[in-house]
Order: sequence, then structure tokens, then C-alpha cells
Amino acid sequence: MQQPDRLALLEGVLEAVGAGIIIVDDAHNVVLWNKWMDRHAGRTAQEAIGANLFDLMPELRGGRVEAAVAAALTNHFSSLLSPTLNRAPFPLYPNAAARARNQHDERLQQAIAVTPLALPGAAPDAPRYCMIQLNDVSMAASREKLLREQTELLRMQSFSDGLTGVANRRAFDVAIDREVRRAKRNGGVVSLLMIDIDYFKPYNDHYGHQQGDQCLMLVAATLQALLQRSVDMLARYGGEEFAVILPDNDARQARTIAEALHARVLAQQIPHAFARGELKMITVSIGVATLPPGEPSDPARLIGAADGALYAAKRQGRNRVEAALEDHD
Ligand code: GH3
Ligand code: MG
Ligand code: MG
Repeated sequence: MQQPDRLALLEGVLEAVGAGIIIVDDAHNVVLWNKWMDRHAGRTAQEAIGANLFDLMPELRGGRVEAAVAAALTNHFSSLLSPTLNRAPFPLYPNAAARARNQHDERLQQAIAVTPLALPGAAPDAPRYCMIQLNDVSMAASREKLLREQTELLRMQSFSDGLTGVANRRAFDVAIDREVRRAKRNGGVVSLLMIDIDYFKPYNDHYGHQQGDQCLMLVAATLQALLQRSVDMLARYGGEEFAVILPDNDARQARTIAEALHARVLAQQIPHAFARGELKMITVSIGVATLPPGEPSDPARLIGAADGALYAAKRQGRNRVEAALEDHD
């Protein structure tokens, strides 16, 4: 069987390989420049060979590529330039020829390997060469970016209520735990409001579930609009029940906010012909509780106290704010 011409074969490999390959000599002059480089750098081998690499691409001077080439030629060190640190040091584009017409094309993201080339059997004082391999990792990089974005979206979704867009129960559980611990650590206070829509079952039964949903969205937006501090957290605690965590607000401040929220919902004048109270409108009952500074405390106790206050507000006729007993002074 006839042996193929190995040199021709290697030439073929160099032209067909899906990566950029540059070889420079110890004066940094290009001695090899493959087809891939032609396509993505917009220079033919004819133009590049014989030219100094750093004259061809002056922006590489003084950077990590030049340092890696020097290390390969003088110390025989190989280097890998990580694409996270050096996203795109070479001016390479998906289609360099087309880029001449469209200046907005983005550079390829690059993984670069710089390797000293030892020619077999060469004398110790023979010229040294350095090979630069360039791989296009744009796809991997954009996939990674997409994954990161999707993860962030999922994280956000897993902490927000699908209907109203406010924090969900899971986010509430995390936040109340954090805020109670923070208050304990700083010797500060934290207050909690439990807000429940009055006569919501008859609203749902008569107006239908869809309008019930609309009502929940409107109430959530109304409550949220009034909470100005970024540390305040409104959460959907259950079906038609909301919770508001008020870090650093004492019992009096929390009551003031609760009264304002209560009034704001009423001011929306959402008709509710089937409410059993006198007002034929959507109203809320609110329970307020505060963890005073320096008390042994846990989230369950604060939630229990706010729930108790909410229950008292319901019992006393709804459409009102009640504070937990221990906070009366
Ligand atoms: P109260 O004044 O004592 O609070 O009475 P209520 O009728 O509001 O209380 P109840 O807990 O009996 O009813 C709550 C109703 O809320 C039951 C359910 O039909 C409705 N609900 C819960 N979650 C949703 C939801 O996501 N969408 C809609 N449309 N309705 C919901
Ligand atoms: Mg209710
Ligand atoms: Mg309820």
C-alpha cells in the first residue's frame, strides 16, 4: 500500500482544523498561519507570514498573550489563557470579511494555549518557535450566560408569588427568620403585620374565581405601593392573607403603617355587594405584633402574636387594625 505524503496530510489537517493556529519564531515573526485565522482575523497567510505578530495585532503588546509568548520562547513554559480572565484578546470575529462591513459584530470568545515548539533533533542553539492555539468558546460562553440567567429567573420565581408578584410564603419564611435574628443580634425591634381580606369567600363565590384573582392582585399592588422602604417585605402568606415584615419598626410605628395600609385598601373602593358587614366594599383586617428588643424570641412567637391580633380584629367585627396584647402599653 502506498504511504500518503505526510507533509501534505499535515498541511490538510492545519487547514481543516476548527481552531486557529499561529506559529511564531523567536523574533515573534509569524511562520505559520492557518486558514481558520484567515477566516476569523481577516488576514491571509500570505499577509501574515513574515510579519511580526505584535505589529499585525498591536493591541496584544504588553498583555498576557505577549507575556505567554515570551515565557514559551525563553523559558519553554506553556500557558493556558483562561477565557474567563481573557475573554477576547485577539481581534477575531465570526466572519472577519463580513465584519469589515458590519462594525458591530462581537469578537469571538477565546480559549488560548501558548506552547513552545521543540523541533525533534534540533541543536540547542537552533531557533525556537512558539505555537498559539485559539479555540472559539463563544458558544460555551453564551450557553453559560443563558444558564446563569435562567437560574436567576428560576430563583426569582421560586421566591415570588405567581399571581400577585409579591414575595411568596417560602421567601417570607426565610425573611422572617433572618429579620428576627438580625433584631436579636443588634438589640433592635422587628414588627409583623398579618393582613386578611374580609368576607373573601362570598366574594369568590359570587363574582367568580377569576375576579377573585383580580381582587387579590389589586389588593397586593395597593399594599405594596404604600411600603416605601426597601427592607419592608410584603408577602402572600396564604390564599387571601398577606404578611408585612417591618424591620426596625416599633409597635407604634407598625400600627401607623397598618392603619395606613388598611385605609388605602378601603380607598380603592372595590365593590363587594355580598360582604356581610355594613360596608359593601372589600376591606381588610390587620393584626400587628412587635418583638421588643432584648427578648428571647423566635419567628414562631412573632407570627403567633400577629395571628392572634388578626383573629381579635376579625372577632371584633373585621375592617380594623388590632395590635397584639403584649404590645399595648
Ligand atoms: P374572613 O372575613 O373571616 O376572613 O372570611 P373569608 O371568607 O375571607 O375567609 P375564608 O378563609 O373562609 O375564605 C378565604 C377564601 O379565599 C377561600 C377561597 O375561596 C379564597 N381564595 C384563596 N386563595 C385564592 C386564590 O388564589 N384565588 C381566589 N380567587 N380565591 C382564593
Ligand atoms: Mg378572609
Ligand atoms: Mg383567610
